Amino acid sequence: MYISTRGNIRPQTSAQAIASGMVPQGGLFVAQDLPLISWQKFIDWDYSQIALSVMSSFLDDLPQDVLENAVKVYSDGRFDSNDPAPLVQVGDCGILELWHGPTAAFKDMALQVLPYLLTSSLKTLDMQKEVLILTATSGDTGKAALEGFKDVPGTKIVVFYPEGGVSPVQERQMITTGGGNTYISAVQGNFDQCQTAVKEIFSSEDIIKKLADKDMVFSSANSINWGRLLPQIVYYFWTYIQTMRQEQTAFGEPINIVVPTGNFGNILAAYYAKMMGLPIGKLICASNKNNVLADFFNTGIYDTKRPFFLTSSPSMDILLSSNFERFLFEASGRDADRIKLWYADLTRNGKFKVDDQTLKSCKTSMYAGWADEEEVMDTIAKTYIDYDYILDPHTAVGMKVYQDYRQTSGDNRYTVLASTASPFKFANSVLTALDKRRYTGYDSWEALNTLSSITGWKIPLGLMNLKDKPGQEVSKISPEGIADYLTSQFIR
Ligand SMILES: *Cc1c(COP(=O)(O)O)cnc(C)c1O
Repeated sequence: MYISTRGNIRPQTSAQAIASGMVPQGGLFVAQDLPLISWQKFIDWDYSQIALSVMSSFLDDLPQDVLENAVKVYSDGRFDSNDPAPLVQVGDCGILELWHGPTAAFKDMALQVLPYLLTSSLKTLDMQKEVLILTATSGDTGKAALEGFKDVPGTKIVVFYPEGGVSPVQERQMITTGGGNTYISAVQGNFDQCQTAVKEIFSSEDIIKKLADKDMVFSSANSINWGRLLPQIVYYFWTYIQTMRQEQTAFGEPINIVVPTGNFGNILAAYYAKMMGLPIGKLICASNKNNVLADFFNTGIYDTKRPFFLTSSPSMDILLSSNFERFLFEASGRDADRIKLWYADLTRNGKFKVDDQTLKSCKTSMYAGWADEEEVMDTIAKTYIDYDYILDPHTAVGMKVYQDYRQTSGDNRYTVLASTASPFKFANSVLTALDKRRYTGYDSWEALNTLSSITGWKIPLGLMNLKDKPGQEVSKISPEGIADYLTSQFIR
């Protein structure tokens, strides 16, 4: 069963948790009990088998054949290699390439599966309703969600992105999705305003009632949805098995994991994997210049009242990391009352402070650091020179924080860095990093080709021919206008 981080709903089944996306009164669903998984048995399994085993242990009310079908996405050709998440060695660390899916971002790992889980959840609940999926995106989630839900019967998906806050390639990827049930809106504001406005819609009694009258429900494709988070836990089990197969670790010896972090979903999945018995030592949370999390780990104060920076790693330009609430829930000893107080503070004052014991518990499981723009650029260049390997700016943030951690902590454990995007998604920034003087003035499309010709790496399929594909209409709205837009366009 699933409970709320704020203790404001009675336990729900997994189908209910996935169908609702988040707790309507505010708060996020978390598993009442985390299963212990005997990863030892996975040693010869393929990705889909591991996915089935891990996901089944959480989704006891969904039919087994649906899950069996769902995990086929990892082997039916949607991912561009036989292994959907290859682990490659770069210098002294492993890089887990999570971007071999159709949209070249790690979000595909979960968003290819979520539609199966969501439609099956509704069916299990016997809700013959249309689902309206609302998704706030800082760039990558939007396209991956559109691709996952495109033409899925009984669903409509609306993606909200901050106007001017996503790269031209990301924008182009979104508007060329096609499909009869996909809608895209540019919101005048930054990602946090976008995400907060969308979360408010989920809790708006007025709109929920209007929806119900039309036999519709809301759900979310953001990592606030348990169905989105769960498939992400799988690849950490996969990573550990790969590490052993490649003889980087002895059987049962812990590894460290570094995750470039934005909304805190990816690293939370690694944290859950650890709680489920996977041998993980330190979790390393890497932020860009929007370093709210790194500051939190130093001070115990989560403070969103600060300048917001647009960086070369836009998917991490986030001040309010939704899933941090789930982590704090665990770190506080599952104290829903305190979570409620802290998040009330956050809404009122833009910040909150946790008690010493909770902070201590946070620090025990996690290290947090950050990298500025210059460091990111240097890291991309240096990694290419030293190892002939190209990092995208998000993954470069992780690499830099990993190197800092290794140097200052003296912890020499084998470490895996989660690589969250193909460098081709951010080709202009990568080219600038490689040689600022030579590679300026390219448009996004020239940049793709240039990056491919210098490195000899192939442009991911999903990014080819984007320029010439017909684009769909984008509605421009203000954060305050989202409710009216939804009511007038969809709830009729
Ligand atoms: C979404 C995203 C992130 C941040 O992941 P979270 O789960 O939100 O922390 C990092 N890098 C890239 C490329 C992303 O698309």
